[in-house]
Amino acid sequence: MLDWSDTSTPAKPTPATIFNSAAPSSAEQTGLGAIDRSGGRVSVDDKRMINCRADVNQLLPLKYRWAWEKYLAGCNNHWMPTEVSMQADIALWKSKDGLTDDERRAIKRNLGFFAASESLVANNIVLAIYRHLTNPECRQYLLRQAFEEAVHTHTFQYIVESLGLDEGELFNMYREVPSITDKAAWALKHTQHLDDPDFKTGTPEADQAFLRDLVAFYVIFEGMWFYTGFAQILSLGRRNKMVGIAEQYQYILRDESIHLNFGIDVINQIKIENPHLWTATFQEEVRGMIRTAADLEAAYGRDTMPRGFLGLNAALCEQYMHFIANRRCAQIGLAPVFAEADNPFPWMSEAMDLKKEKNFFETRVIEYQNGGALSWE
Ligand code: MN
Ligand code: FE
Repeated sequence: MLDWSDTSTPAKPTPATIFNSAAPSSAEQTGLGAIDRSGGRVSVDDKRMINCRADVNQLLPLKYRWAWEKYLAGCNNHWMPTEVSMQADIALWKSKDGLTDDERRAIKRNLGFFAASESLVANNIVLAIYRHLTNPECRQYLLRQAFEEAVHTHTFQYIVESLGLDEGELFNMYREVPSITDKAAWALKHTQHLDDPDFKTGTPEADQAFLRDLVAFYVIFEGMWFYTGFAQILSLGRRNKMVGIAEQYQYILRDESIHLNFGIDVINQIKIENPHLWTATFQEEVRGMIRTAADLEAAYGRDTMPRGFLGLNAALCEQYMHFIANRRCAQIGLAPVFAEADNPFPWMSEAMDLKKEKNFFETRVIEYQNGGALSWE
């Protein structure tokens, strides 16, 4: 059974990687430098997550098996949005009184948030993370993840087209709806910092900036904000509303769960190899980022669901965010940021069991997962 809820034991650093602190050249890090005809072969001990001097074009020998396993799991989960029927959603969306105004507002803002967010996440992987993550098995996973983000963006294109939504309204919400803009702008500043052509890892300040970006996108964007978004749509799906979108969100959630757990493994492995970066001050800063992110999400919840509807309201979403925030802190070895909170959506774990939900929604069974159950948190 594959279980991403617990981080695999990261590899121990070798003395050579701990004490070799001189920053490698940028060509060494990108893998785009001149070919070293007289260089030796890469040994496992030469591999490092960041600031690696070993050839990043040699996938084997593998050092970080957890990264390779996530690449394989991502491939096993292949799906396409167009394989999910939208007929029931179209009928409900076009009906006069199948959905309340509050439900329509929440659905549109939810779609608007995700539509642009999938692009922001993809841009961050390709333009900020890939270049500085100097390990080929991690890069192999990033390439898979980048494709999955394209599939997710495709999903929102397919939903807009199926329901006949206003594409300008939806894809501009990240610019025009302040509660969505606030989240996007908060995350984007970390990408912008790393995308600067003068930015290089190799100093404690720069390496911490890289960690900040990983926290902002993997732990917060994909690991916190996406989860309340999933809960909103899956809650409607449980009441037999927008079941096509709910099914697509289940597939996205399955992908995102691996993205999140890959990010957590990356952060924890960088911490092990570079313990000097994970100072008490920096830990407090990261806890502050998580707290701010939960506040931004609470504001988005109030804006998206001013009155709430059956089974869902802004207060429950805020409680869920506190529950998730504490869990993310634990996953990267930080003390909780909120008082202990119960999970207000205990059905989320069951809703994430695709095979069970298939019977519930009575849709076509697509067996993408070849063997092995996935355990969601
Ligand atoms: Mn995604
Ligand atoms: Fe993702």
